[in-house]
Amino acid sequence: MINMIAAGEVIERPASVVKELMENSIDAGATRITVCVEDGGRRSIAVSDDGCGMDAEDMACAFESHTTSKIKTSADLHSISTLGFRGEALASIASVAQVRAVSRTRDSAAANCIEIDCGDKGDVTPCSADFGMTIHVRDIFYKLPARRKFLKTANTEMGHVSEQFARVALANGNLDLTLTHNGRELYRLAGGQGLCGRIAELFPMLSLSASNDLIEASSNEKGLQILALLGKPGVSRTSNRFQYVFLNGRFIRDKFISHAIKEAYRGLLEPSRFPVVFLFIQMPCEDYDVNVHPTKIEVRFYNANLVHSQILAALREKLLGTDLEMPGKLPSSGQPRSETPRPAPVSSQRIADAMAEFFRRHRPVQRQEQIRFHPASPSAAGEVPSHKPVQYDSPLGDGLRQKFMQIHDSFIVAQTDDGFVIIDQHALHESILYEDLRNRIQNGKLQSQKLLIPESFEVTPSASEAFEDNTELLERLGIELVPFGPRTMAVQGFPTLLSNVEPLDFMQDLLDLLEHTDTGLDTAGLLNEVLNMAACKAAIKAGQKLTDSEIEQLLADRQQAESASRCPHGRPTTIKFSITELEKQFKRT
Ligand code: ADP
Ligand code: MG
Repeated sequence: MINMIAAGEVIERPASVVKELMENSIDAGATRITVCVEDGGRRSIAVSDDGCGMDAEDMACAFESHTTSKIKTSADLHSISTLGFRGEALASIASVAQVRAVSRTRDSAAANCIEIDCGDKGDVTPCSADFGMTIHVRDIFYKLPARRKFLKTANTEMGHVSEQFARVALANGNLDLTLTHNGRELYRLAGGQGLCGRIAELFPMLSLSASNDLIEASSNEKGLQILALLGKPGVSRTSNRFQYVFLNGRFIRDKFISHAIKEAYRGLLEPSRFPVVFLFIQMPCEDYDVNVHPTKIEVRFYNANLVHSQILAALREKLLGTDLEMPGKLPSSGQPRSETPRPAPVSSQRIADAMAEFFRRHRPVQRQEQIRFHPASPSAAGEVPSHKPVQYDSPLGDGLRQKFMQIHDSFIVAQTDDGFVIIDQHALHESILYEDLRNRIQNGKLQSQKLLIPESFEVTPSASEAFEDNTELLERLGIELVPFGPRTMAVQGFPTLLSNVEPLDFMQDLLDLLEHTDTGLDTAGLLNEVLNMAACKAAIKAGQKLTDSEIEQLLADRQQAESASRCPHGRPTTIKFSITELEKQFKRT
């Protein structure tokens, strides 16, 4: 009974058996593991490996509880380098199912076998078998109807089995691994095939093109080694299912690490989306404790802050340093390639010329005086660096100014060296403003400007409380708020950078944020939300006609901005099309 109760902690469903047995094989030094499952593991699970195996004496005791060969003294608990150490898995499995184990060590001519039926152990008897170990588990929970009842359909259970298999497969790229269900081979993974290949085989539903969709980041500092494959924002998901974190080969879930991943993608993804991430961490086993959870899926880091900050830094730096612009998708013609002989391929130069001509003819004629649409009042001219129009290099080198046009008063189409881009004017301006605001506020507070006539508004008691709780935030933003009556407040000073924003309108949105954002948000998070909101309000809008010089300014700012490829909400600002793609579509290549 003790073992049956203990089994409840470790063996929840067939997939737990698969996990424990595969981990044992890895600890035994196997290079090949075969997993055969029937009926989602409800009827049968067999795992065999070519590891070190066990002799008769060890087999007789391995299925007793608390028997392990992996630790000898309590001191060993502080530096566990194997996946197992609790000596509970085999005992738990054998107490809730029919188990037959066959094993031969490398230096022995004969194999041994043992059968256990829900804790009822037979003798070890000699038999013949290859070296390594095979464990066959049948009819899990058959003597425990209450638990058997909770097993789901074969499909669902098989989903869990595949997930456990995938975790082991990702963490052990050097192993040959096979998974079979009802006689059908689901995966046959060759050792040493490379991580990207393995990911593609395990997750065809992500339809990842490793070279295009995954970015590799790595760092190695202070004993902490990080290797990550980061999905580009375009392959994000609605859940964190595709975030795999491994610590020294063990799949773990950790809230610090999840948070670091989320932060790394801040502004690159919409808040409701989750990035696809494969993260491999190596660190000395003395720096964390795995003995905090029965299935060892959680660990305790002795220096969680270091882990968090290093992962965040490595990932963030890589993501910001990578061109994440969305490649435009051209409609595929669906037509088979025409058989008629075509004229000799036209050089990309000719297409570039044709495009240049098109943009020249279609651009608006009038040129207006350079105006600044970075909102700044004259009094603040000293603070806001003057945005000189930067001339985009003419790709043809012919002295033409940059070729661009605004369409539907919302998008800007601009020629680039190797094609053209379509820019969402609001999203781009918003991301530029956001970055500007963030840089300025990091160095202190935003410059404030006194309003000629203070603008007053009514406040509820909870609103004035929210403002009181956030006086420091208001001050950093450059908002000066004074009581104006029993239920009235007035804005006296307002950030210079937001001078084209209606103060009262802004205060209303700010209040919504202060009162309703989830309370888990720390100061930095809240500030970030506020800056997002401010940038959105101050940015030029869709549907707003822009002059040439305004467009030029926007394009110039874009070149200087650090992360202009995404707006602060994580939507793309720019979609690019390459000449090569166009040529293909027009069947010129
Ligand atoms: P743990 O893995 O925590 O030590 P288990 O109950 O999973 O405990 O296994 C008990 C012992 O049985 C292990 O310590 C190991 O010595 C032995 N063992 C289990 N599986 C294998 C295997 N596939 N090959 C060789 N030895 C194994
Ligand atoms: Mg084990």
